[in-house]
Amino acid sequence: MILDGKRVSQQIIEAIKKEVKACTPRPPCLVALITTDHPASHTYVSKKAAACREVGITSKVHHIRPKNTEELLEAIDALNMDPTVDGILVQLPLPPTISVALILERIDPKKDVDGFHPVNMGKLLLGERDGFIPCTPLGIQVLLQEHQIDVAGKRVVIVGRSNIVGKPLAALLMQNAPGGNATVTVAHSQTPNLKEVCLSADILVAAVGKPKVITKEMCREGVCIVDVGVNKIEGTSKLVGDVDFENVFPHVSAITPVPGGVGPMTIAMLLTNTLKAFRHKKEG
Ligand code: NDP
Repeated sequence: MILDGKRVSQQIIEAIKKEVKACTPRPPCLVALITTDHPASHTYVSKKAAACREVGITSKVHHIRPKNTEELLEAIDALNMDPTVDGILVQLPLPPTISVALILERIDPKKDVDGFHPVNMGKLLLGERDGFIPCTPLGIQVLLQEHQIDVAGKRVVIVGRSNIVGKPLAALLMQNAPGGNATVTVAHSQTPNLKEVCLSADILVAAVGKPKVITKEMCREGVCIVDVGVNKIEGTSKLVGDVDFENVFPHVSAITPVPGGVGPMTIAMLLTNTLKAFRHKKEG
């Protein structure tokens, strides 16, 4: 089975559209800050802005070239104070001279729709649902649920331990909550015997950023695979994941395609989180 992120995200988008129409006295508003010329960052921000437009969320993109961390902190302070802004997103990566940790910590946790602030990460780890859950892990959980794949009691192996994917996904799937209760292993570049670790998985998540790092030999017959990777094949516009899709596909019970799997779910969750930020603010 193909885990169709495009279809599921479209359903979510249609539902959000209706909810945004009912928002008063104005629609929710998301501001994205972009600080580099990184082409992929511009592509991601334009996709997010287009998705906002599609559902009626006001989207503003601020292109700034901060000379230092302080300048970017000031821009964030202004957005934190602005009552017409519900969500703030700082597109990563940042220029090398700027401290990512200081920037992410400055965003008001109530406007942190990416869910990267330590308060929101902490709430996720503690199983408190009133914070924001990072969009990619949340999108993966929803995608599995929408395909009736229950992770409870399953062995989930996540390859990759980044702060934006691997760590929060592990925290999310291990919770004693609906969509959780998995037994989670997190592997990384220092994991010995990666093949054996992967072979133990009922559900294998690849979040590495290297094409074909997950081969057929690493996949148990009937495994479910979530491929988070987005890798550009040099000299082409083609995007591939981390999994050797063609060779792995005949052996899996389910798999996400790249593109059309996790990517659209991530964007749908950003819209979900922005609507949640708007509602929380209204409720005071
Ligand atoms: P990072 O580079 O931050 O993390 C990569 C992780 O993979 C690290 O933990 C690293 O280990 C591990 N790793 C690297 N090489 C190996 C290896 N040979 N074997 C096992 N583990 C390895 O990446 P991100 O988490 O930010 O992103 C991962 C991928 O997902 C990228 O392709 C990115 O573009 C994509 N992505 C897609 C999104 C979507 O919406 N579809 C959203 C976010 C990311 P170590 O920690 O030891 O260095």
